[in-house]
Amino acid sequence: MFIDKQQVTGRFAPSPTGPLHVGSLVAAVGSYVMARQAGGLWLMRMEDLDEPRVVPGMADDMLRTLEALGFQWDGEVMRQSRRKDAYQEALDELMKRGLVYACGCSRAEIARIASAPHENGELLYPGICREGLPEGKEERAYRVTVYDELIAFNDLVMGHYSEILTASSGDFVVKRADGPFAYQLAVVVDDHFQGVNQVVRGADLFTSTPRQIYLQTLLGYETPVYAHLPLVTGPGGAKLSKRDNALSLAEGRDLATEGGGLLVRALRFLGQNVPDELEKAGCREVLEWGVANFDMCRVPRVGGEFG
Ligand code: GLU
Repeated sequence: MFIDKQQVTGRFAPSPTGPLHVGSLVAAVGSYVMARQAGGLWLMRMEDLDEPRVVPGMADDMLRTLEALGFQWDGEVMRQSRRKDAYQEALDELMKRGLVYACGCSRAEIARIASAPHENGELLYPGICREGLPEGKEERAYRVTVYDELIAFNDLVMGHYSEILTASSGDFVVKRADGPFAYQLAVVVDDHFQGVNQVVRGADLFTSTPRQIYLQTLLGYETPVYAHLPLVTGPGGAKLSKRDNALSLAEGRDLATEGGGLLVRALRFLGQNVPDELEKAGCREVLEWGVANFDMCRVPRVGGEFG
């Protein structure tokens, strides 16, 4: 596909580990209306790299659900499981430049040495294998070396954010020795390959962004514009139960009837002033209203229940 440099290119990149749910619907709606409002492309990428977590048939189930909700994407659906050569090439490039090293530490070993884990359960890697794999240790992962520099970006929703990777993640994993490439590497390689310059996604990935910007810098890629959308939670801020919020057609949801209403709720969740008459409208009509009227300034920073 030919992609004009000035063309806005957004994308929706779900992991097919379960059916589409209200949380991923919010990311789909946000990324769709923003890309289309700018007259841009909206691409679809299935992040099916972590094979043990992928549920067979879910990628197609998600695509059918999105179609039933009126979404239309540009071009072919990209599947990360078919892009391993590209990730390997990027990894080879980083290795050749001495930026990646083999690490033999287990999570338990890191946990013993590292300071308290971050909120998301990630640990700061203290650099044990940086100078070479200690005797008797087997390769478990490949890590990219980070430096004491500030990585900053302006998020369209969350505002200015900066991080020093040596203090937040430390040298981070780009591939498991006997397993998949890490999400951080794959997402950067794919966004670059697909010409994505507008990344709109859930706030759970907000703190991954500095690592992704760092990899983009190392690989000589442009950094996209980022907008991290508030997360849908269960009652009292509890983690959303994906099961209860499944939107799959296969689960008996009648999206032809309830789809428009769900899209209205997603837009309202994103702070948009959707007129009541649209509650009974069809999916396309609601999405078109979103494209014409979406106002980024109204998107709240804090999530909550899907009203
Ligand atoms: N695959 C990720 C997810 O479903 C999203 C990745 C991204 O948008 O960068 O949470």
